[in-house]
Amino acid sequence: MKLLSDCIFCKIVRREIPAQLVYEDDQVVAFRDINPVAPTHILIIPREHIASVAEATPDHQGLLGQLLLAAPKIAEKMGLEKDNFRIVINTGADAGQTVFHLHIHLLAGRALAWPPG
Ligand code: 5GP
Ligand code: ZN
Repeated sequence: MKLLSDCIFCKIVRREIPAQLVYEDDQVVAFRDINPVAPTHILIIPREHIASVAEATPDHQGLLGQLLLAAPKIAEKMGLEKDNFRIVINTGADAGQTVFHLHIHLLAGRALAWPPG
């Protein structure tokens, strides 16, 4: 059985494994993706373990808003154009989710095709 304590992103929140943190607040942590697909590729995650957005409940409404609002703050803090980035939430294996701790990908720094593959 996979224990919550095995979750790689929970380990990053607890500082048990290293990550290049770029932002944190009371409920949110953001760090550089280990395998970036754009010049800027940041993962924005809740400190609380939620497996995916499909597992979020009405109790998480405020947290979900805080996660989303972190994106332009991070973009601005990192010297990106505050209004020129993409955010993505892969939900479920078929959608490409590989880490089952909710995260928002923030991608910027190159032209991004749409629709994605
Ligand atoms: P997903 O495919 O679940 O939407 O995204 C998971 C992301 O987490 C991937 O882009 C992957 O490169 C990143 N990732 C996986 N393990 C680690 C890690 O240990 N550290 C960091 N910084 N990123 C990770
Ligand atoms: Zn977790």
